Amino acid sequence: MVHTLSFQVSPKIAANDFLLKKQVAEQLSLPMAEIHEMRITKRSIDARSRNIKINLSLLIASGNDPSVPFEKIHYEKRDVSLQPEVHIVGAGPAGLFAALRLIELNLKPIVLEQGKDVSERKKDIAKLNLNQGCNPLSNYCFGEGGAGTFSDGKLYTRSKKKGDNRRVLELFVLHGAKPSILVDSHPHIGSDKLPEIISNMRKTILECGGEIHFNKQVVDFEIHNDCITKLICSDETIPTKQVILATGHSARPLYYALHNAGVELEAKACAMGVRVEHPQDLINHIQYHGNVMKELPAANYSLVHQVDGRGVYSFCMCPGGIIVPSMTADKQTVVNGMSNSRRNSPYANSGMVVELQVSDFKNFERYGELAGLKFQEQFETLAYQNGGQMQIAPAQRISDFVRGKISGTLPSTSYIPGIVSSPMHFWMPDCIAKRLQEGLKFFDRQMHGFASSDGIIVGVESRSSSPVRIPRNQETLSHVRITNLFPCGEGAGYAGGIVSSAVDGMNCADAIVEKLRVKN
Ligand SMILES: Cc1cc2nc3c(=O)[nH]c(=O)nc-3n(C[C@H](O)[C@H](O)[C@H](O)COP(=O)(O)OP(=O)(O)OC[C@H]3O[C@@H](n4cnc5c(N)ncnc54)[C@H](O)[C@@H]3O)c2cc1C
Repeated sequence: MVHTLSFQVSPKIAANDFLLKKQVAEQLSLPMAEIHEMRITKRSIDARSRNIKINLSLLIASGNDPSVPFEKIHYEKRDVSLQPEVHIVGAGPAGLFAALRLIELNLKPIVLEQGKDVSERKKDIAKLNLNQGCNPLSNYCFGEGGAGTFSDGKLYTRSKKKGDNRRVLELFVLHGAKPSILVDSHPHIGSDKLPEIISNMRKTILECGGEIHFNKQVVDFEIHNDCITKLICSDETIPTKQVILATGHSARPLYYALHNAGVELEAKACAMGVRVEHPQDLINHIQYHGNVMKELPAANYSLVHQVDGRGVYSFCMCPGGIIVPSMTADKQTVVNGMSNSRRNSPYANSGMVVELQVSDFKNFERYGELAGLKFQEQFETLAYQNGGQMQIAPAQRISDFVRGKISGTLPSTSYIPGIVSSPMHFWMPDCIAKRLQEGLKFFDRQMHGFASSDGIIVGVESRSSSPVRIPRNQETLSHVRITNLFPCGEGAGYAGGIVSSAVDGMNCADAIVEKLRVKN
């Protein structure tokens, strides 16, 4: 017989197969020898009190059933080499999942990516960490897998938009991710595992007759009768019929190219701030109420507060992670965070950002719909000017930042290029700095020690979301005027994070098939 069971156990029991089986046998009033197989279908931690529990749901095979039924992940690999072509600009999560979906729908994806494949890309990332400058086409944001490749790979999403989140996780598993991401409430892959998974996705696309072209930057568009007829790349011009534009929110030259070509864009609300970093031991101690056990993972947190009518919130928290230089050009300083699959660095970091409205970009009004982009550029330039040379980032102890004091010394950090003390309360725009100060004071009351001198802020976290939207029709998902342009993913302003960008990619593929079906 196959049983389903949901219950709470201690972290020690959850981490030990024998103890867990014993517990299951007790719950089912069966001898242990009768239990043939157990499979966890859901797992989460309840750390609201000192008595920390693990919530588990399981399928259990006993008696005449030797095993739990196995649900095979299905992906039909078809030969699409001679099928109608769809050009996808950008090989991030949105672009890659759009390509995988197009193949299932019997269309041929041709992916154009300005950056390099993952293994070549690693060399440019190493240079960034060695403080040797930024390749504007190959960095933490650009190249095969997009910003999703060296991205930590947290796969939970707050997005409630229509889409198949589960399918995204399944396709990750099919390409090499651990099946546990299908059951964990906070699934995570890790930056050490993602590159191989991404190159496996490339292999699937190529095996099925799709194409992927690296070092292929789209710089302009030829538009006739509200249709893109040609994609102009730096080295050739490509005729096209359908375009999925999945270029991510760091593709500034592309926003300018669209703007210059008269393609309608919109300014949108976004969020900017800093990255906070603490010793992981401190975060474990706070979150596990002093009851830290080796069976528990590095603790995370999620914080939110309203200051002067705007949200101040933690974002992309990386337990046991490192802060990384995620600028896309020289003379800008931008940071983000990632962690390896084991989450075993001694540091915990998180974005700590303030919600910004279009009204905050008043000084840049003359740039119209690109005002937020100009604000973002200036914020990153300020961080560069107030940091050290090249990728060295400005930093301040949190206790000093909230009191408006310069830090005489800084604690150690995971940020490899290095940090330099800077009065960030002074030079960051007030709409960000003042709210961050209030937010951090509030969070210190929720998590005692959060705003202590053990924590630092590192600047700046400016790319948590796009300040520009490429508006599209909500039904057809095509641009509001250019009928064969499908703005997709984070750069189009319709997603935030790996899963929602991937879902948006699949939705755009579905929308193209629907369009072609209606036309025929
Ligand atoms: C360090 C870091 C850590 C992150 N951690 C997480 C996390 O743990 N979980 C999470 O959900 N999200 C995380 N994110 C965010 C996540 O990576 C993005 O939300 C996601 O990658 C967006 O997907 P996308 O496909 O829309 O765009 P992108 O991933 O930005 O991909 C766009 C691609 O388009 C290419 N491109 C741009 N312009 C052109 C052009 N003109 N011609 C050709 N190609 C072009 C770029 O080179 C890039 O490869 C992280 C981001 C970073 C930088």
